Amino acid sequence: MRILVTNDDGIMAPGLRELARQMSRLGEVTVVAPSVEKSAIGHGITIWDPIRLKKVAFPGVREAFSVDGTPADCVKLGIQELLGGSCDLVVSGINNGPNLGTDVLYSGTVSAAIEGAVLRIPSIALSLASHVTDDYTVAGKVALVLGRALVGKNNKEVLFPDTLLNVNIPPVGSYEELHGFRVTRLGVREYNNVFDKRSDPRGNVYYWLCGEVVPHGREEPDLDVVAVEDNYVSVTPLHFDLTDYRIMQRLKDGGIESLITK
Ligand code: MN
Repeated sequence: MRILVTNDDGIMAPGLRELARQMSRLGEVTVVAPSVEKSAIGHGITIWDPIRLKKVAFPGVREAFSVDGTPADCVKLGIQELLGGSCDLVVSGINNGPNLGTDVLYSGTVSAAIEGAVLRIPSIALSLASHVTDDYTVAGKVALVLGRALVGKNNKEVLFPDTLLNVNIPPVGSYEELHGFRVTRLGVREYNNVFDKRSDPRGNVYYWLCGEVVPHGREEPDLDVVAVEDNYVSVTPLHFDLTDYRIMQRLKDGGIESLITK
């Protein structure tokens, strides 16, 4: 099995090392990751600049490349060029910080997995739901356990080729502290005090995006945000088809299609 491992925290990130280490127990790993951090770059791709890459030493894997590009670039280039189209699984992470609810829309980690799904390869995004720890031991074990379960049951049957799993791991001290896995749906992430307004030494105003997460309701246990708070590993199946199927018929019934008749 050929596994492409990537991330958005960059080739030097400890979460990437741990993920590559664990995935190499499942199959033949190729690491293709951004040369510098690309967090919150979303699904951006590079079309106006060359995409340069460098082969780098990386313990325990088949090959590793540091790429001057985005996470989506890494997956596209990795699958289509470096692996010659032959890839069985894309795994992205382990991100430093959560990717929950609407934040997945900004996430480079999740976008890398979306790119894998766009290319019809089963894909998983993994995030450690804390910015303050650099210990990926528990999250790495979760990645292996999940990967083994999916591969063991024939990963193509469990994971549809155009679907990705978004996995968030609560920041617990030991594997035993996890309450289990919970299949979830995306919640909403809202922030307070979103912009910090400042001025530079020349008196020019600038803004710094920050903010604190607004506490959310806990009445829906199948939301990803609630699962992680309850110390469950949250597993959300995602799809890149953003069509709102609920509203399609209402638009048709509302006469949109007859606004222009020929
Ligand atoms: Mn990141």
